Amino acid sequence: MIGIFGGTFDPVHNGHLHVAKALSKALPFDELRLLPCGEPAHRAPPKASVDDRIGMLQLAIEGMPSLLIDEREVRRQGPSYMVDTLASLRKELGDESLVLIIGWDAFVGLPRWHRWQQIIELAHLLVMQRPGHSVEPGGELVQLLQQHQTDDVSELAGRASGSVSLQTVDAVDVSSTEVRARFAAKEDVSDLLPVAVSAYIKEQHLYLS
Ligand code: ATP
Repeated sequence: MIGIFGGTFDPVHNGHLHVAKALSKALPFDELRLLPCGEPAHRAPPKASVDDRIGMLQLAIEGMPSLLIDEREVRRQGPSYMVDTLASLRKELGDESLVLIIGWDAFVGLPRWHRWQQIIELAHLLVMQRPGHSVEPGGELVQLLQQHQTDDVSELAGRASGSVSLQTVDAVDVSSTEVRARFAAKEDVSDLLPVAVSAYIKEQHLYLS
């Protein structure tokens, strides 16, 4: 079972790592791949270069052999549509179980994703809920949940795609936006990201404005 945790990782921080570790404990992943996006279709381009974002991810996952970096989106030209990424992974993985990990907020916006209905044909969806989320999903997603939701995580390992699992992961109060703002203001960041990553950011003079 391969987990895909996509993000901008601009930069990677303790919230991302907490999620990756918590999910690795909760589910029997063979691999959990952190997948940095290239040209995000739904938001402003990243501030740091591809090489810097990958460099920081490499430092962050050192010593964690079950975490890998998947570079297919940053090596591809054009907008990063998740459906294309999953199709490319599916080609490579045959009928191996593939689990796309997304936050509840992203899930609520899923119907705006390119060819979103194909996503569940290509992968399972693992939706991370934070305690006390407030946004409610629209009708199309209620229907998706009625058809595909499972409380039995072993279903995810047992087949290639097609199930939706909601998992509660407790929040770590940090975002890349906050990390960038703290670097720009030359404030302490030691509680937000691994020491090796903050050293890299300082050496490369990233996020200064
Ligand atoms: P930004 O502040 O630039 O929007 P971000 O901190 O949200 O960035 P992303 O790389 O865009 O980071 O996030 C990738 C994924 O990680 C998303 O699914 C997001 O919900 C999740 N995530 C980000 N921060 C946290 C956190 N503190 N706790 C749990 N999940 C998080």
